[in-house]
Amino acid sequence: MSSFIFNLFPMYFIKFNPILLYHSLGKNSNFEKNIDHVDLEVLDSTLKTMKKYFKFVFIDEYITAKDKSKLGVITIDDGYKNVIDEALQVFEYQNIPITIFINSSTFEGKIFWRDKIRYIIDNHLEKEFISNSKLGNVKNFYRDTKSPNINSAIVDKKLDLFFEQNNIKIEQSLCFNSKKYLIKHPLIMYGNHTYSHYVLSSLTKDEQYIEISKTKLFLQKQDINLSNVFSIPFGGIDTYNQDTVDIVKDLGYKSMLLSRSRLNNPTKDTFFIERIMLKDNDLSFIKKAYFLSLIKDD
Ligand SMILES: [Zn+2]
Repeated sequence: MSSFIFNLFPMYFIKFNPILLYHSLGKNSNFEKNIDHVDLEVLDSTLKTMKKYFKFVFIDEYITAKDKSKLGVITIDDGYKNVIDEALQVFEYQNIPITIFINSSTFEGKIFWRDKIRYIIDNHLEKEFISNSKLGNVKNFYRDTKSPNINSAIVDKKLDLFFEQNNIKIEQSLCFNSKKYLIKHPLIMYGNHTYSHYVLSSLTKDEQYIEISKTKLFLQKQDINLSNVFSIPFGGIDTYNQDTVDIVKDLGYKSMLLSRSRLNNPTKDTFFIERIMLKDNDLSFIKKAYFLSLIKDD
């Protein structure tokens, strides 16, 4: 099925590149819903098929490559432990380079705030949390808590308070919380995905600067291969603003990664890079993403 699709649209792939975005990759998901998890078998078969058509390179190599035709890139956001513990062997076996964009707050023992949101949903505590935290009019808890109109740092503080008051402890961090996850490996580069993964456009410029520069400093201190690319938390067009762009450029980053389910057009812009999230091995998603980019390209 997938090779059939590629044979039908070969010329498009000379022009457009799949920059894939993954999150949790492992044998099983730790949450029931609202998690972008992909199982190892699915990952393995997707990569196998794509390797027939694309040459996978690091995102930094892709950006500087003069001839980008037939290049593919794997990026992995949020630094889930299972990427190193379980999925790395798949990438090693297939000899595919990956860039992992981390949030450095989890190395200080903090729990990824979206995992706190998922905990509240899985345990049916939304109503209690909303009334307790006076968040106002919330219709869709998962979505509204990542709105640019609600300061993420404030939501996170309210989450901590709620967890404390109710004596809830998320014992285990699913994301990197120790330097053993930062390894110098020929197939791995690490990049900046901010300190806390807040919606940057919901923050003040100073707050944004702290979020981005803290993780830059943290990464520079490690003995790892460093990416010169910045990955915007959530990656939507409303999740960053001009302040973000100014800070990212000031800090010396060459590109910003979006996540809008589109193939990247290498002839357009090398500062903003489009990515696609693959949840299953139905690669027709790429075909769909291509048409989407034709209609809604802005
Ligand atoms: Zn992320």
